[in-house]
Amino acid sequence: MCGIFGVTDDRNASRLAFIGLFTLQHRGQESAGIVADDGSRLVPYSAMGLVNEIFSKDVLDSLAGHAAIGHIRYSTAGSSDIKNAQPLFFNSALGPLAVAHNGNLTNAARLRADLQRSGAIFQSTADSEIIVHLMARRRGRTLEDTIARNLPLLEGSYSFLFMTPGGMIAVRDPNGFRPLVLGRLGRSHLFSSETCAIDVVGGKTIREIEPGEMVVVRKGAVRSRRFSRPAPLTRCIFEQVYFARPDSVVAGRTVQLTRNEIGAMLAREMKGVKADIVSGVPDSGTAYALGFAGASGIPYQAVFMRNHYTGRSFIQPDQTLREFTAQLKLAPIGGVIEGKSIILIDDSLVRGTTSRKIIASLKRAGARNVHMAIASPAIVSPCYYGIDTPTKEELIANDLTPERIRAYIGADGLHYLSLGSLITACGGGTDRGFCSGCFTGRYPAGRNVKRAK
Ligand code: 5GP
Ligand code: MG
Repeated sequence: MCGIFGVTDDRNASRLAFIGLFTLQHRGQESAGIVADDGSRLVPYSAMGLVNEIFSKDVLDSLAGHAAIGHIRYSTAGSSDIKNAQPLFFNSALGPLAVAHNGNLTNAARLRADLQRSGAIFQSTADSEIIVHLMARRRGRTLEDTIARNLPLLEGSYSFLFMTPGGMIAVRDPNGFRPLVLGRLGRSHLFSSETCAIDVVGGKTIREIEPGEMVVVRKGAVRSRRFSRPAPLTRCIFEQVYFARPDSVVAGRTVQLTRNEIGAMLAREMKGVKADIVSGVPDSGTAYALGFAGASGIPYQAVFMRNHYTGRSFIQPDQTLREFTAQLKLAPIGGVIEGKSIILIDDSLVRGTTSRKIIASLKRAGARNVHMAIASPAIVSPCYYGIDTPTKEELIANDLTPERIRAYIGADGLHYLSLGSLITACGGGTDRGFCSGCFTGRYPAGRNVKRAK
């Protein structure tokens, strides 16, 4: 997953982009970048690391202009390389062009091989670069036409922001896999992966970019056109389960409320389970546990203290220090745990390593028993559209039954939310247009490439 943010028509554009990216930091911690448009030139800056480590006052001063786009990149198991940091920036026959991409192109390997055979020289290993090579070869009358002509060649998931001197173009793939919203702030238009970043810069969310839609902002005016008929909407359900910040609105509802509702549904599905307290694995589990508590009457209590300073930058120079990682990140609150029977909620179970560690730590702190509740169904298949789930073989639910998983994680009970409840909660009962390939193995679009971004 990644996060993208764009600002037009504001003389502090790159500073607003910085605030936007900072707010979207949960979507990626590997690298960040901003490209500013001063009307005639594009000025890029990107680096590895966190947003507030990268953009000093001097760097932001160097990014002067009236428009900017920014990107934060999600760390994957694969190579973490400054060449892949975005926004990508090109000087080509199309003029100066910057591109920020959230998604994963499933036909990238074939497109890249075809392009290389006909002479293209790639500067990164990011699939995102492919669209620019396609555009340089198949031109339309205007830049918008060029983009619109080439997007249908892409398969998989993409929300893109393109910027040229004087223009910004936002697109969302025909399935609407990845999110993208349009907002306003005074005279300026904003584009963001999530509404929370529009709120934080003081703007107002107007609407989602529609699947298959292209929104163009030029000279302060906004225009919309379609580059494709929308395919059946299959937005990623994992945004609501894990990715999105609780204060963002997704599919018409604040994510915190969706997660409360999912927690209440878990409580209904687990009616027979008795416990002294219900708790969540911080941070994502908390909203579920609060919803569960409200519906079941079992009191909510925090059982872990999360240290917010560990992040990705936490350095583990040797084995002795590495052994402290788990306790350092999530420390059990002994006094509330001892002698208690606990329902513990996490958003998802992937390899089972997190659950196994934290259940052991609750037991060491004296928990009488721990019933694990997962706010989503078992993950049985990888994501091909941008979530970094591991290969099928590494997914614990791929070859173990729920009973064997329960034994492996050391829980006294294990319950997964049903897919029906999840879809009802995420769509409020009306929007059923979700991709749930990771829970079912049924995918709505091409999937020949595993590696996500
Ligand atoms: P497991 O330990 O079972 O492999 O993974 C489950 C944990 O990973 C949960 O606590 C969940 O919050 C977290 N998680 C779920 N999806 C993602 C993701 O895409 N990236 C990261 N870094 N963590 C995730
Ligand atoms: Mg977690």
